[in-house]
Amino acid sequence: MALGPVWLLHGRALLLALLALSCLLPAPTCAAAPSAPALIDAATTRASLAPHLQLLHDTAGDIEPGEALRLARAGGFEPLPDGRTALGFQPGAHWFHAIVVNRNARERDWLLVQEYPLSDRLDLYVVHADRTTLHHAGGDHLPFASRAVRDRHPNFRISLPVGEPVELLLRIESQSSLQVPLVLYTPVAYAGHARDSLLVIGLYYGIILALFVYNLVLWLSLRDASYFWYLFHICAFGLVLFTLNGFGFEYLWPDSPWLADRAVPMSICLALVAMQQFARHFLELPRRWSLGNAISLGMIGFFIAFGIASIWLPYRTATPVASGAVLVGVAWILLATIHVVRQGYAPAKLLLLAWLAFLAGTAAFTLLAFGLLPKNLATGYGVQIGSALEMLLLSVALGYRYASLRNENERIVAEATARLEGKVAQRTQELRGALTQLEEAHARLRDSSRRDGLTGLYNRTWFREEFAVLVRHAADEQRPLAVLMIDLDHFKAINDRHGHLGGDECLRIAARRIGRVLRQHDALLARFGGEEFVAALPGHDAAAATAVGHAVCTALASTPCLFESREIMLSASIGIHAGVPDNQGVDGLLAAADSALYVAKAQGRGCVRMSPASAAPIA
Ligand code: GH3
Ligand code: MG
Ligand code: MG
Repeated sequence: MALGPVWLLHGRALLLALLALSCLLPAPTCAAAPSAPALIDAATTRASLAPHLQLLHDTAGDIEPGEALRLARAGGFEPLPDGRTALGFQPGAHWFHAIVVNRNARERDWLLVQEYPLSDRLDLYVVHADRTTLHHAGGDHLPFASRAVRDRHPNFRISLPVGEPVELLLRIESQSSLQVPLVLYTPVAYAGHARDSLLVIGLYYGIILALFVYNLVLWLSLRDASYFWYLFHICAFGLVLFTLNGFGFEYLWPDSPWLADRAVPMSICLALVAMQQFARHFLELPRRWSLGNAISLGMIGFFIAFGIASIWLPYRTATPVASGAVLVGVAWILLATIHVVRQGYAPAKLLLLAWLAFLAGTAAFTLLAFGLLPKNLATGYGVQIGSALEMLLLSVALGYRYASLRNENERIVAEATARLEGKVAQRTQELRGALTQLEEAHARLRDSSRRDGLTGLYNRTWFREEFAVLVRHAADEQRPLAVLMIDLDHFKAINDRHGHLGGDECLRIAARRIGRVLRQHDALLARFGGEEFVAALPGHDAAAATAVGHAVCTALASTPCLFESREIMLSASIGIHAGVPDNQGVDGLLAAADSALYVAKAQGRGCVRMSPASAAPIA
């Protein structure tokens, strides 16, 4: 706002100077004009001035309007280089001159529009045939409200009398890229044109807004940092374009030419920071490529520093550097993406496509800004087209990345489960083995507790248990059961003569021989104690048991035992009780057999005796 009155003062002074000057000069004629005048015929409502523009570069920026007009008329101006309206970043001021002849009888009022929103300062001098000169000023160094029509492009309402040549002398001084797509519109034609371009731009912001809301919802539900940086990127980039399109000045800082200058480099730096952060997160650079991560962090540091520095840096320096940095930043992200793709990270492929689209669009726009490409739909809206595609593809890439992360997680969980199950199976197997071993050890222990250590025969305790079962079965089935008490004769004497070891050997041999005889009879045999053995013969009556008793006696006595090359003769006395058990019980049966053994001992040893209660007569 502060600039307004100052400009007005300057404007009046210049105007007066120019008026005085133009009176001295010959009136413009078509013949005297150094360039062909722009002829607006009866049906024309829009006329581009570019082909008719002549240019003078005022490097020091100190040429007065009158002098410029004189030079233009004297042929001191030159046509636009190659007819281009984009001239890049240039120092000083530029003067443009054109002569317009309006032959459209119905239209006297016209709008001269500079279809580029970022110029700092424009001064338009409209010199009529009657030498009246009008001065208009524009550009974003003046408050937005000073524009003829409320529009993002600087514009001037001028009157073009029918059939009269009118000279247009325009001075542009701007630190931004110098672009002069100057077009004359009838107000109605301009309203239609503005509507069309707003539709395209509205479409762009619509896409961005939809992507923003969609990814915001995803970020809120997934809390994945990549989504946050994506949103940041979208916002920062949206702001860049809002500024570049002239909407920032129109809607956000209409009274601040200061911000109008700084918004471009600052928002570009912000977008670059967001872009790098997003790429770092998406590509997982800290984990996948530490050097790349360090470079990205370095760039982020630079962009932050440069963004802050652009508050003080001249716009002419800050904006080209920031615009160039976009290419460098995106090229670097492309490199990092290629590196990560080559590592086999599939979601990065979509990213590659997205950045390529963006790079192509931005490159087109940047080349246009530097005056290296002509202005057309693809270059003029290059950033919009490229970035919309890029943001769309990035959003798809985020979804793809999320899906592949989820698949990866599921795979890891499945693998972990399988590993766990394998381990459990292995442990179960080991446990089962240990249990079997324990059972076997337990069985061995139980068995050894039943066995007699010297002879390996079962002991008396176990015999009593098993014998009780046999007695019960025999009683239930009413089958005979015989019990044999076998006592070695004069064993004390054997011990005395051959020593205890000799006696032990004889006990082992005797046990084996008795066992061999009884094996065929399904007998229960145990060492009863000392040199005494006990056997139970299921199903044997007195006669059968007697036969077995004799066989045992024979087996023991027939062959001498060998101990230290000495032969030891053995003999045994056997007492038998046989019959179907009734109610004697285990002890009764054993006592009966023991009594019979006493009888055998008493009757001379080496013989078999039957208990009197046995069912069959003694053989
Ligand atoms: P009998 O003909 O009356 O049965 O006379 P015996 O000497 O065989 O009977 P006695 O009951 O007097 O002696 C049994 C002997 O058996 C006494 C003991 O030293 C011996 N003896 C008992 N157990 C063992 C053993 O495990 N090893 C050895 N070497 N001798 C044993
Ligand atoms: Mg004995
Ligand atoms: Mg004895």
